[in-house]
Amino acid sequence: MPRLARVVPEVSLDRAFDYAIPDSLQDQVTLGAKVRIPFGSRQIVGYVVELLEATDVSPRALKSILEVLGPRAFLPAILIELAQWMALYYCAPLTVALMSVLPKAVRHADASFKQRLWVEALTSTLPEETALALKRARSQLTAWVYLQKNGPGWLAELTQASGCGAAAWRGLAERNLIAIAPRTQDRDPYLHAPVAESTPHPLNPEQQAALAVVREEISAAKPRVVLLHGVTGSGKTEVYLQAIAHVLSLGKSALVLVPEIALTPQTVEHFRARFVGQKVGVAVLHSHLSTGERHDQWQHIRAGRARIVIGARSAVFAPLEDLGLIVVDEEHEHSYKQEESPHYHARDVAVMRGHLERVAVLLGSATPSLESHHHAAEGKYRLVELLQRVEDIQMPVIHILDLRTTKKGEPPVLVAPRLVEAIRARLDRHEQSILFLNRRGYSSFLQCPQCGHSEMCPNCSVSLTFHRGADRLRCHLCDFSGPVPPACPQCGHAPYKYSRSGTEKVEDALKSAFPTARIARMDSDNMRGKDAYAKTLGDFADGKIDLLVGTQMIAKGLHFPRVTCVGVINADLALQIPDFRASERVFQLLMQVAGRSGRGQVRGEVFVQTRVPFHPAIQFARHHDYAGFAQQELECRRSLHFPPYERCLLVSARGRSEEKTLFVLEQLTKEIARLDLPETELMDTAPAPIARIEERYRFQVLLRTRRIMAVVPRLRPLFLDRNWPDDIRIVLDVDPVDLL
Ligand code: ADP
Ligand code: ZN
Repeated sequence: MPRLARVVPEVSLDRAFDYAIPDSLQDQVTLGAKVRIPFGSRQIVGYVVELLEATDVSPRALKSILEVLGPRAFLPAILIELAQWMALYYCAPLTVALMSVLPKAVRHADASFKQRLWVEALTSTLPEETALALKRARSQLTAWVYLQKNGPGWLAELTQASGCGAAAWRGLAERNLIAIAPRTQDRDPYLHAPVAESTPHPLNPEQQAALAVVREEISAAKPRVVLLHGVTGSGKTEVYLQAIAHVLSLGKSALVLVPEIALTPQTVEHFRARFVGQKVGVAVLHSHLSTGERHDQWQHIRAGRARIVIGARSAVFAPLEDLGLIVVDEEHEHSYKQEESPHYHARDVAVMRGHLERVAVLLGSATPSLESHHHAAEGKYRLVELLQRVEDIQMPVIHILDLRTTKKGEPPVLVAPRLVEAIRARLDRHEQSILFLNRRGYSSFLQCPQCGHSEMCPNCSVSLTFHRGADRLRCHLCDFSGPVPPACPQCGHAPYKYSRSGTEKVEDALKSAFPTARIARMDSDNMRGKDAYAKTLGDFADGKIDLLVGTQMIAKGLHFPRVTCVGVINADLALQIPDFRASERVFQLLMQVAGRSGRGQVRGEVFVQTRVPFHPAIQFARHHDYAGFAQQELECRRSLHFPPYERCLLVSARGRSEEKTLFVLEQLTKEIARLDLPETELMDTAPAPIARIEERYRFQVLLRTRRIMAVVPRLRPLFLDRNWPDDIRIVLDVDPVDLL
């Protein structure tokens, strides 16, 4: 019988502490329990990560657990294990890793379901003498009649609706005519969003083969990861749905991860619609939930009431117990990477979770990350392919529009004439078009044509963007915003030259080219609330919008059969980013964007505007040639020692003083060099590509290694439990995706 527990307190330390379990709590303190503990002079919350027989702590110093919070093992053991792995692999304090597997909404000491008073009638007829008595208590009578007519409800709402105060209801309760009792009110975000049940599609042969492989792995003793490479519109979702149905029939549960950006009402509805007929709960976890909704969804999952969980990045920690399958849709998406500590990648955590729990993991994408592609090529993952779109729908034709053809001195073309004509043809035929540009605002570079002065952010090393709607200059990295100067502050010349056009300007240009068309814009400037997003997408689906302009928000996963024309305003933006994955990103983006076109019976067309028409990423995308792209890009990666052949670690330093920040990083770099890490290359320290953000200077150094598992544990002590000089922040990012 263990009498000791190792507890991770909710403070940012890389340590667990041993506590005695008092006799009165012997039965309640289990692995994963949420407990109240004395900690220094305070009492705080902690989580039991291990039960022990012995401890090094002297009996006199040993303190006891005070109380168990919550009804039973709060955290499933698997999540503790996963947190421990993350702490090690991503070099994070154990507490930080543990806190990231538990949403804030359930961590709080008194987080609980919402209790409200519920009113129900105990009888439907009034005994004669009571009826007489009620005649003298008019408001009680009104309340009684109201309840009989409208049925039970929450006390607060009944008093409002009936106009009878709480006293009247209590009076009825005293007469034993009604019951008023606390009841849990479920904060369900989808309570008022009913869906019609959908039926499974009969699978085509490619889908059948894919499903068969997934089913094999679901039943395997040691399942392998399955990589489902399916072109856009090939019916990957249908394969997920039928795999999940299979898992449910085995009495197990399923977890589906989608990128936050793809977690549209459309996606969620797909899943809810398919399983609405079966009595299984579908829980949804995403960033738009309220704290209360998040708490309730988590608890439903924990209690086994929700059998399917669909969510963004952090849903990989959903507390499902009998998991049968983890699906990671759009596995190549960079939004799976957490940008704060622990810097985990949800796809990789999913693979790890599958490994620890012996659960099948299905990674799906039209453009698998080169990492996953490489694992499949090496036989570590099982590869299944869907090469055809469903129902013989053809892949769209991709046209490359060379923007260099404008003559010298002419203003650069925003929307090329061929693209304008293509849109016009769609408007005439009542088909829809999407135009895509990964830059919001009107113009992101305001320059004085006389002296060359440009408007820069005072806090960051980037230029300010002019937002015409708001008539302000804004920084996209910090909160800075300011008025547009009437003339150049350096030389007094007016006006500015506006270049580097954004979505607002494209919207404007289209409105003047097509004055009668119904045009909408979607970017994070005008889509702040989730409702705006859902409404615009709904209007587009209903054909109330002809032309949609937007940022990558509209590039992913959406299915609109009437869209037959897609334009990419500037394919080069992403190519200019100094990142070894720039090519891969552009290729993925073009394929995804192209995937929005021609998903119905009319063949789609895609127009890609560029100044580098012969860039391999653009040429391979044009021919829908994933294999060709992967082969040539992998050759580059191999010769340059980049992933997937080697792993990267990025050490960065940030601080207000340029000299001090660089100094601290250089000292740390020397310490790393002294470790003499095996098969590891340490680059030079250098300013980050964005050298300053929010008044902080940024320097970084990249490590590349073939021995990640040997290297991380040796780096750990250099980074954890260590005091850096004030206001200098040091971060180690294992497998970074953002090198800016
Ligand atoms: P992907 O995720 O691969 O881009 P989807 O799963 O969105 O593709 O499928 C595209 C469309 O085809 C959806 O409307 C889906 O309902 C439909 N679909 C999927 N499988 C089949 C099938 N076997 N027969 C007919 N339609 C299908
Ligand atoms: Zn700024």
